[in-house]
Amino acid sequence: MKYIDQIDLKNKRVFLRVDFNVPMDKEGNVTSDKRVRASIPTINFALEKGAKLIIASHLGRPKGKKVAQMSLKPVAKVLSGLLQKEVMFLDDCVGEAVQQATGKMKEGDIILLENLRFHPGEDKNDAEFAKQLAALCDIYIDDAFAVSHRAAASNSAITEFVPVCAAGFLLKNEVEYFEKAMVNPAHPLVAIIGGAKVSDKISLLENLIEKVNIIIIGGGMAFTFLRAVGYETGKSLCEEDMLDTARKIVDKAKQKNVKFLLPVDALIARAATAEAEAKVCSMKEFPKDWIGLDIGPATISLFSDALQGVKTIIWNGPMGMFELAAFSKGTFGLAQAVADSGAVSIIGGGDTDTAIKKAGLSAKMSYISTGGGAFLEWLEGKTLPGIAALER
Ligand code: AMP
Repeated sequence: MKYIDQIDLKNKRVFLRVDFNVPMDKEGNVTSDKRVRASIPTINFALEKGAKLIIASHLGRPKGKKVAQMSLKPVAKVLSGLLQKEVMFLDDCVGEAVQQATGKMKEGDIILLENLRFHPGEDKNDAEFAKQLAALCDIYIDDAFAVSHRAAASNSAITEFVPVCAAGFLLKNEVEYFEKAMVNPAHPLVAIIGGAKVSDKISLLENLIEKVNIIIIGGGMAFTFLRAVGYETGKSLCEEDMLDTARKIVDKAKQKNVKFLLPVDALIARAATAEAEAKVCSMKEFPKDWIGLDIGPATISLFSDALQGVKTIIWNGPMGMFELAAFSKGTFGLAQAVADSGAVSIIGGGDTDTAIKKAGLSAKMSYISTGGGAFLEWLEGKTLPGIAALER
């Protein structure tokens, strides 16, 4: 794969695909500029090198139609504020007017195009729509990792029609850390997997079991595993139809000599609410009518000890219902252990990112992926169309 710092951008029309899918309130104000900030290193680099920068993104799911609330116009203002530079906004992303405006650009100019998904061709990875986008530029740069798991005209078909294609710095980071985790990891390699359901994470577990030395399971999904190996789990989350699958995963771990750690105690409550009565119990004596909502203190110690001396940690999914402070200690405690481990730590998935931020430990992690679904599918061993298109 080529990267942005390996090509000459001077005086070239550069089409930069970013992920500016920002949250907005009802009045259309951007409520978090995190995704815009994530693209700033690539944008600044392109500007310093004398590019004429044409930026494109999706926002929300307008399904091929113009939806006023999903316009990228407010994002142009945010970007302009962050760069301290004028950003011209165009109210479409293809067509005569766009062709003319991009044709008149000078070195260092920035244009933000309107939402790509206002055109049905975007999500259909349509070649004709991709050709129209490609006609705007000399060079294509992809920095939108978060959509790499879906083939769209602006991250897949477009690469067939632009002579020079490369990845920006955000994508470069994702690729480099993915390689550190899954291609050439330093061992011992640990996967910490949590979250609500086993069914969401089967492909992930099946792929990881082939590569890691230790698997740590927490969150709601741990109770399905615990039931599968014979424990009582009261009214905790349990996917009855996944018990067989869970057993097979535990057996496979044994065969492969992968250490497979499940909780030994839990923080349980009468109900999944902040006010409910709660207490710690050992997995050996789980009371009938209670719900497991976090890992207990003995499990936090067990999991933290398992991280001693490991070299690489991949983490997806919280250890408990961390959104409620009462059930956040397990996730926060493990986050601290990951931070203290000295291992390369690669975190992915929206909830894990949020939990680590809440714990105030984001800066202590080696890398937090910007792609929820894309990160998961990558860990599942799938080829990501957006990445494959750049490698072609
Ligand atoms: P996922 O999207 O699969 O990673 O799941 C994340 C969600 O799992 C979070 O919203 C957590 O509140 C929830 N979760 C974690 N542990 C539990 C648990 N023990 N019981 C119920 N939900 C949980």
